[in-house]
Amino acid sequence: MFHAEQAWLGGAEPASNVLIEVADGVISAVSENAPAPAGAHRLAGLTLPGLSNTHSHVFHRAIRGHSQRGVADFWSWRTLMYGVAERLNPDTLYDLARATYTEMALSGITTVGEFFYVHHDRDGKRYGNPNELGEAVVRAANDAGLRITLLDTCYLQADVHGAPLDGVQRRFDDGSWEAWAERVDQLTDTPTFRVGAAIHSVRAVPRSAMAPIADYAARRNLPLHVHLSEQPAENEACAEAYGMSPTELLAAEGVLGDRTTAVHATHLTEEDIRLLGSSGTTISMCCTTERDLADGVGPAARLARAGSPIVVGSDAHMVIDLWEEARAVELDERLISGVRGHFSVQALAAALTSSGAASLGWNAGRIEVGALADFVTVSLDSPRTAGARVGEPLSHVIFAATGSDVDTVVVGGNVVVENGLHCALGAPGPALESAIRNVFS
Ligand SMILES: [Zn+2]
Repeated sequence: MFHAEQAWLGGAEPASNVLIEVADGVISAVSENAPAPAGAHRLAGLTLPGLSNTHSHVFHRAIRGHSQRGVADFWSWRTLMYGVAERLNPDTLYDLARATYTEMALSGITTVGEFFYVHHDRDGKRYGNPNELGEAVVRAANDAGLRITLLDTCYLQADVHGAPLDGVQRRFDDGSWEAWAERVDQLTDTPTFRVGAAIHSVRAVPRSAMAPIADYAARRNLPLHVHLSEQPAENEACAEAYGMSPTELLAAEGVLGDRTTAVHATHLTEEDIRLLGSSGTTISMCCTTERDLADGVGPAARLARAGSPIVVGSDAHMVIDLWEEARAVELDERLISGVRGHFSVQALAAALTSSGAASLGWNAGRIEVGALADFVTVSLDSPRTAGARVGEPLSHVIFAATGSDVDTVVVGGNVVVENGLHCALGAPGPALESAIRNVFS
């Protein structure tokens, strides 16, 4: 039983003195203006539903800060990232992932969507357990107290013309969509793990495999994610090969829809926006990564108006702070439009919580009866958040809080973070440093 000083229940303003009762990991009662019963776990500050990080490449954490010299672009950054992908083994990946997910938990994240394509050993051969690496990632998330949707990614070719995968990319290659599906068949859900599917991009999956992968995901009711139009070069290659945009290609192959999340969606035409919005496709904005890689600013406000739910992800983990990701969706729009007020504070909070959880296939992200008991409490007494009680607490937190202001994180009714410390794993700094050292040693 938890008693929140203030809790955002989805309305305009947070409610006060909210009693949240939990049974079997699920919220069983929510009462506003309730006194705190003896023995209730007090949550001082503003409590929100747990945050969903809808787009993660966990091992990218190892190269944070490495590529800030000179005029590097996305493609030179990718070469650096591949250097890490090449070195991973099940043990180093587990250690790096667990420490990175601990960092996520401390910042208020309760569910992560791991877009995962490093499936095989260094020579491209399957491990004895073909899901050895994916399962290491799942175990790491669960050991850090998070729920995870493993967005098991199909990656079959090096370019849009079907060039074979070479070098480190052989680790990504299942050979065919059928072999990918046969491997994913061996993964099953648990209370803290959901199987998901992903098409890496229109570059990395041939057109003939797109509809079968979408059908497979529909048959198993899996969330389906896809990288979309992050780079102009991808649009140009797609136009050359197929005579249409990546969005048009995905629409033609039946990939778009309300179980689908398109990641980035940065360089779109008006017709692309219409196709994504009218199909109810969710858009995962990864603003801090797009900023870092000079990708551009995607049309989030126009997509939202067209009908697409907006969610966020920390993607390459230059920073892991979804509070920053959410406000960046609004603030980046302001910079390019010269106008404020594209997204309400409540819409940004929904991107972090209810819409994010839905994108990853979880009945969570809402403080209401029947939802999973996942929530996060932000202190209102930090240097950044002090004064929120006087003004508008939700707006103050969304626009000024950082992951460092998170006091308590609860997943399935279990306290994972308390007083800003991870209950099971402590401070993640030393574990992160040694995991990153081991990747490079
Ligand atoms: Zn990505």
